[in-house]
Amino acid sequence: MAARADVGVFGGSGFYEFLTDAEEVVLDTPYGAPSAPAVVGAIGDRRVAFIPRHGRHHEHAPATLPYRANLWAMRMLGVRAIVGPCAVGSLKSAIQPGDFVVLDQLVDRTYARPDTFYDADKVHHVSFADPYCEPARNAAIAAAERVGVTVHPSGTIVVINGPRFSTRAESRWFRSLGWDVVGMTQYPEAYLARELGMHYASIALVTDYDTGVEDDPGIEPVTMEHVLAVMEENVDRVRSVLRELLPGLPPDGVGCACESAVGPLPHA
Ligand SMILES: [Zn+2]
Repeated sequence: MAARADVGVFGGSGFYEFLTDAEEVVLDTPYGAPSAPAVVGAIGDRRVAFIPRHGRHHEHAPATLPYRANLWAMRMLGVRAIVGPCAVGSLKSAIQPGDFVVLDQLVDRTYARPDTFYDADKVHHVSFADPYCEPARNAAIAAAERVGVTVHPSGTIVVINGPRFSTRAESRWFRSLGWDVVGMTQYPEAYLARELGMHYASIALVTDYDTGVEDDPGIEPVTMEHVLAVMEENVDRVRSVLRELLPGLPPDGVGCACESAVGPLPHA
């Protein structure tokens, strides 16, 4: 396989026109096919691989999309660092639709998603205390600031299973715990990247206020149409941040612990 990349992006289908000199690469992994063939191309001097997280036609739901195949496909391409832009609902009035959040913590409320590569032969426990790569996060914050978008430099995401959105009671509960945003795909994507020793950062785009904030009765609960419309409106801004970020993403050996998480991988 000739195509190689050192940086990967999981995102919406709005990123297809993003890379120059792009070629499509069909990959088969021990975990099946990824969400879609990878597109490998360039941004400046950087070789970048892109896989649309939900598939080319948005056919993979958050609970059933092939996270392990997606991460393994990136590994096959030689990818060392991944940026996973995602759409989130805000749980705080200060975090507004259109804002970006560079996540630093995660709460997993998903269930039954295949979420490890270490499920054969040998047990291997991996620290996930800090789910995101700090140097990659810092690069993302700096890139967003240079582009001039509103960016929150930290935030806790609660990952729900979906495809349904939260009830008002669940959303109130999440807010009472001080969590910042809610989404459906950061787990196990961020964790599987860690198991492979990759540096992972996410840029979360706020599309809505979930079921409302501070029990404001004037806010309509989020709908899928709304999320997709806001993503569409903001795809250029997300692309601008990525274009600024990807060429300068730190390479390996910058003092984070991500690389040392790798254990005896079953299919390596
Ligand atoms: Zn790292």
